[in-house]
Amino acid sequence: MAGIQTCISGSLPKPEWLAEPEKLWSPWLLDGDELIEGKKRAIKIAVEEQLKAGISIITDGEQTRQHFVTTFIENLSGVDFKNKKKVRIRDRYDAVVPVVFEEVKRLKPVYVHDARYLRTQTNNPIKYTLPGPMTMVDTLFDDYYKSREILALKFAEILNSEAKELEAAGVNYIQFDEPAFNVFFDDVKHWGIRCLEKAVQGLKCKTVVHICYGYGIEANINWKKTLGNEWRQYENIFPLLAKSKINQISLECQNSKVPIDLIKLLRGKDVLVGSIDVATKEIETPEQVYQTLKKASEFVETKNLYACTNCGMVNLPKYIAYEKMKSLVNGSKLLSKELGII
Ligand SMILES: [Zn+2]
Repeated sequence: MAGIQTCISGSLPKPEWLAEPEKLWSPWLLDGDELIEGKKRAIKIAVEEQLKAGISIITDGEQTRQHFVTTFIENLSGVDFKNKKKVRIRDRYDAVVPVVFEEVKRLKPVYVHDARYLRTQTNNPIKYTLPGPMTMVDTLFDDYYKSREILALKFAEILNSEAKELEAAGVNYIQFDEPAFNVFFDDVKHWGIRCLEKAVQGLKCKTVVHICYGYGIEANINWKKTLGNEWRQYENIFPLLAKSKINQISLECQNSKVPIDLIKLLRGKDVLVGSIDVATKEIETPEQVYQTLKKASEFVETKNLYACTNCGMVNLPKYIAYEKMKSLVNGSKLLSKELGII
C-alpha cells in the first residue's frame, strides 16, 4: 500500500484572469473562445498544483463551473434562468434561484468534454464531482413537478446518464455533493438515498457522496452556532449510507464539532476524512492534519481511510489553498509512516 490516499473535495481557486478571486459564484472575466481556452488552461494549472502538492486523486478543481449546482442545471432544458424566484435554501437562507417550468432534460453532456481533457493531464486516478439530486432540488424553485421527490428522481436519471459518460471518459471516482442530506433527514430516509442510488446505477467506478456543513459563508457560520456542542446530524444518515450502494463518504471533520466516533456507523465504507478547514485562511500544520486522521483511524479500517478537505476551496486565496493541500499530504504521510504503510 502506498500510504493513505489524498484528495480534495472538489474545487480550487480560479486564476485571477479567469474569474474574480476569493468569491463564490464569481462571474467569468473572459468570453467566447477565450473563455473556452481559459477554462482549459485553468484545469491544467489546477492539476499541476495538486500533483506538485502530492495529492493522489486529482480533480479539475471545478475550474469550468461558477457554482457547484447551478452550472450543471444551466445545461439542462426545462429550467428558466431569466425569471428567477426566491426560495429558502437548506432551511437556512433565502436565495433567488432558477425556476423549473417544464420537464427537465439533459440535451447534451455537461462535463464529459472537460473530463476527457482532465484525463489527458495526469496518469493518477481522477475524480469528478456532480451535484446530488436532493441538493439540486433544494437549489431551485419547482413550478412544474410540485414534488421534491419526483423532481429528485428525474434529476437522478439525468445524473446517471452524465455519470456513465464520465466513467467512459476515464473518470475513476464520481462524487455527488449532497449538503442537503445534513438538513432534511426524513427526506433522506424516504427518497434521498433511493435517488442517489439511482444516480449511481450501473456504474463500475467508485462512487462518493460528499456531505458537509457548507462553505464558510455567514449563513452557514451562524447556523453552525445553533447546532450546540456536538454536531450529531451525521448520526441520522450514516446508518442509511452504510446500507447503500455508495462506496465512499466524504465528511467535514477538521475544526468541526462532529463526534468522530460517528464514523463507526459507516462500517465497510471508505471514509474521506475532512482534515482541512476551508472556512479559515489559517493553514493547518501537518501535525494538525495527522491528529484529525489519527482520531478517525480509530473508527475506520486503514484500507478505508482517505484524507480529504472539509469542502471546496474555491473562495480561498490561491497560495493558501496550495499550502493547505501540502499540509494534507504531509499530515497523511505522518500517519502512514506510523501505521507502517509507506
Ligand atoms: Zn461541501
